Amino acid sequence: MTFPQIDETHDPALKSWVASAMGHADFPVQNLPYGVFSPDRDTRRIGVAIGDEILDLAAIADLLPLEVREALAGTTLNAPFALPSPDRLALRKSLSALLCDAVREAALRPHLHAASQCAMHLPTAIGDYTDFYVGIHHATNIGKLLRPDNPLLPNYKYVPIGYHGRASSVRPSGVPVRRPSGQRKPPEAEVPLVGPTARLDYELELGVWIGRGNALGDTVPIERAADHIAGFCLLNDWSARDFQAWEYVPLGPFLAKSFQSTISPWVVTAEAMAPFRIAQPPRPEGDPSPLPYLWDEDDQAGGALGIELEVHLSTARMREAGTEAHRLSVGPASNMYWTVQQIVTHHASNGCNLSPGDLLGTGTISTPTPEGFGSLMELSGNGKTKVALPNGEERMFLEDGDEVILKAVARADGFVPIGFGECRAVVLPAA
Ligand code: MN
Repeated sequence: MTFPQIDETHDPALKSWVASAMGHADFPVQNLPYGVFSPDRDTRRIGVAIGDEILDLAAIADLLPLEVREALAGTTLNAPFALPSPDRLALRKSLSALLCDAVREAALRPHLHAASQCAMHLPTAIGDYTDFYVGIHHATNIGKLLRPDNPLLPNYKYVPIGYHGRASSVRPSGVPVRRPSGQRKPPEAEVPLVGPTARLDYELELGVWIGRGNALGDTVPIERAADHIAGFCLLNDWSARDFQAWEYVPLGPFLAKSFQSTISPWVVTAEAMAPFRIAQPPRPEGDPSPLPYLWDEDDQAGGALGIELEVHLSTARMREAGTEAHRLSVGPASNMYWTVQQIVTHHASNGCNLSPGDLLGTGTISTPTPEGFGSLMELSGNGKTKVALPNGEERMFLEDGDEVILKAVARADGFVPIGFGECRAVVLPAA
């Protein structure tokens, strides 16, 4: 496995002439995430986040490596993601140098836009979206609620479990989510009811952006999987738990999930993540080893991600009172039973073609204990215990007007931490 390496772009001593980048919680010059933004009503451009600003990459294309210029002229990141990894690395090095060289300020300054004045869009035209289930503590917690005697099914430790999600309803941070209507069957009811979900929930996940694709019929061997990953984002896989419980047998989630998924709009690149790779935690004693097609020594040694994940909730009453959002959970992304490389390899192992700009979700990432539970279903024990909020409100599931905010930061000793920006959306009442 060849992962992107630590290089001069990760140097903690780098200083950018963009003043807001210095010490920025999300977007210091060591991060350089890509996104698609509108500086005005009519334009969509590919940009890079730097501090509180966005640099328009098409506008400065003549300062960038020749081999990336055409890919940056479009209005999605599909083409840049399809570039060979040496070209993507050349782009990153070029941007890092330009944003740190004070001599360049005069030429670049006109192409910086205040992020607060720009609209953000989906980073790619998402051809396909697949959601996995690799958060083993989430799978165990949910399994216990649904099947107390048998929380993890026997396939879990052999197969990275996933289902095909719905790409059409993925939306960037800030787009509200409408409470969906559908079928649910309370235990005491003889026939299902149809109406708005009474158990709307969020799921804290990482999104994985596919870079280079594979042709139909081709596989992605595990030792080359990292080369197919362009970057990462936050993903909220909104879920209607009452619909899910009624519909999920035998084919898995469907309308309980497909009404909307929210992502953070900035793509933190695989190159930016180089200092934040960590070893995959060893499997508990007695668990089977991954089958050979999913096993790679380098992947085990450095294929996990040193990211801290948080969920915050802001209710309508909190916002009216001007109080801050309440943090519901915090935990590490290392609570994944499979690495992101393993899910890519498994996905393509039957010859299924992945394409540049496709989105994979990891599945909800939870900790074994409640401080890092990544969904309200876990925090409330599936609607059995109320989650107390600091202003006296309580929640078992989401109410109209609630806003869910996911955050993430990658940290490693000796390096500048980099953030993912926000993934937020407010719940609107059912239509
Ligand atoms: Mn999910």
